[in-house]
Amino acid sequence: MKDLRENIERHLHALTLFPSRHVGSPGAAAAADYIESTFRKYGYPQAAQEPFPATGWRFGSMVFVDLDDGCRAVPGALPCFFSRGADVTGVPLWLAGNDLDRLAETDVAGKLCIVEFFSGAADIRGRNGIAEELDRLGAAAAVFISDPAYHTTCAASTKIQRSPKLKTLGTAVVGEEGAYFLARNRRHRFRLFIDADTFPHTAHNVAAVRPGTGEGRVVFGAHLDAAPLTQGASDDASGVACVLELARLLKDELPAWTFEFAAFDAEEYCINGDLPGGSGAYVKDHAGRNWRFFMNFDSLGIFFGEDVLHVGRPELLGGFDCVYPKLPIKNGGDDRSFDRAGVPTLWFNTHARFKDFHTPLDTVGTLDTERLVLCVGESLRVLRQLCRPENEAFFRNISKNPKKC
Ligand SMILES: [Zn+2]
Repeated sequence: MKDLRENIERHLHALTLFPSRHVGSPGAAAAADYIESTFRKYGYPQAAQEPFPATGWRFGSMVFVDLDDGCRAVPGALPCFFSRGADVTGVPLWLAGNDLDRLAETDVAGKLCIVEFFSGAADIRGRNGIAEELDRLGAAAAVFISDPAYHTTCAASTKIQRSPKLKTLGTAVVGEEGAYFLARNRRHRFRLFIDADTFPHTAHNVAAVRPGTGEGRVVFGAHLDAAPLTQGASDDASGVACVLELARLLKDELPAWTFEFAAFDAEEYCINGDLPGGSGAYVKDHAGRNWRFFMNFDSLGIFFGEDVLHVGRPELLGGFDCVYPKLPIKNGGDDRSFDRAGVPTLWFNTHARFKDFHTPLDTVGTLDTERLVLCVGESLRVLRQLCRPENEAFFRNISKNPKKC
């Protein structure tokens, strides 16, 4: 138990040391190396990085200042994921909800636009669509307001807008404090400079396999990337730490089942209903494997949160009990890739009271390591119930007679 807690803490610190782990960043590459070397240390000499194509994002620096207020920086402003480079000076053009319906008639060319768009939820489609249209119309930059209905108001989500299709538009985001600052000074001249770019990239999943003697395979997964410029401690260093420890603990257990341990890159990349990048590539590259179920570990262990288990396609799983409430599939992360392939999914997840995910507030300091220790223990208990020999017959029947279930 002591080993488990200390190892989890070590993984969390190793993974959150980098300024960012977004797809294409040096931090994501270093995280993949750390995971691969940990798998090897834990007795998986064949652990390997599996490449797949993605759009990478490079970020250098950003300056967003009020030129009529002594060059004061806009509080808490950050670039959005996949922003292109920008350097624009001027009085911002504010675009309210009804302006967005008539963008083509508005002169946005070369302008610094502030987008008042509150969707009431994480409406990425809406924000991506607005950014793509402003990009087409030649706007210089767009500033979004991190949605208070879905995220904390204390910090900005760098994923609130994330279209990799932008050609020239710079995009930035502010939280509540920055939004009021901009609104109060709306007649001032601002300068927004963003040094950033997108580029074709080869991303890497990291996988390790413990071969079994039977037909059944289980995938344990978490994602190694994070929203840009965040520690991504809960989302999803927490899950990676759990998967690494499961690999260690299961090395010599339950020999009939083949266990695949995977850390996916580019989960935060998924846009407009597409499959997440890394798990989508994994499912495609290894199609035909006899996966009985996928255990996902994503966004765990947050103080003031409730641990839950989302279950997808329970009719294809054997019966089991779990101390966490069982909820219907959420289908918002890597589980989506497996669910689309018809594989049952179990997603260990924390429902947080403070919505810090995808913001710089998602730090190791918000994590209760003891809860991660309990989650590893509980996932093992669920696994052992599902991997009983009588369940092997149940799964075999199901894959032979899929219509009967
Ligand atoms: Zn996540």
